[in-house]
Amino acid sequence: MLDSFFKGSYLIGLIAGSVVRTWYGKKYKQSRIKGGYKEGPAVWLLMSLWGVAQLMGLLYVLTSWLDFADYQLPIWAGGGGVAIFAVALWLLWRSHADLGRNWSATLDITQGHALITQGVYRTIRHPMYLAHLLWSIAQALLLQNWIAGLAGLAVFFPLYLLRVPREEQMMLEHFGQEYRLYMNRTGRVIPRFQK
Ligand code: SAH
Repeated sequence: MLDSFFKGSYLIGLIAGSVVRTWYGKKYKQSRIKGGYKEGPAVWLLMSLWGVAQLMGLLYVLTSWLDFADYQLPIWAGGGGVAIFAVALWLLWRSHADLGRNWSATLDITQGHALITQGVYRTIRHPMYLAHLLWSIAQALLLQNWIAGLAGLAVFFPLYLLRVPREEQMMLEHFGQEYRLYMNRTGRVIPRFQK
C-alpha cells in the first residue's frame, strides 16, 4: 500500500520534472551558441545514463521485473523521499526560470550570455545540479530497489565530479573577476549566506 504510494510519488515527480525540462527547453530554444568547452565521451555517456536511470525507475514502477533486488527502509524514509523530491522539483523549476536563456545541456557560452547571481543562484552556484542530487536521493528513498533506486546516485556523482570543475573553469575564463567574486560569496551546492 505505502509502497505503491511511494512508487506513485516517484512517477508524478518524474512527469513533473520532465514537464519543467521540456517547457524551458521550448521557451528558450538553443540557437545562439557562441562557444564553450567540448565535453568528453564520458560526460555524454553519463548524461545518457541519467536517462537510463530514470527509465529503470519507470520500469520498476510499471513492472515487477526488478523486484528480486528490493530493499526495505522504514516508513519515515519513504516520507522523507516525498519531501526531498518536492524540494528537488521546486529547485529544478526555479533554477531553469532564473537561468533562462543562459541554460544549456552542455558547457556553452551563448550569444549575450549573462552571469546570473540572483534567485536560487544567490547563495549557491549549482542549484540545478543540487536539484539532480536531491532527485537521486529521493529516488533511492522512494524506489526501494538496488537497481532502480540507486541508479540515479550512481550516475549523478561521476557526472558532477567531471562537470563542475570544468564548468567553473569555463565561467572563470569568460566572466573573469565577476565570476571570481561570485565564487567567493557562494557555495557550490551548500548555500553560503553573506555576513
Ligand atoms: N551549474 C548550473 C547551471 C547548469 S546548466 C546549475 O547547476 O544550476 C549549464 C550551463 O549553465 C553552462 O553551460 C553555463 O554556461 C551556464 N551557467 C552556469 N552557471 C551560470 C550562471 N551563474 N549564470 C549564467 N550561466 C550559467
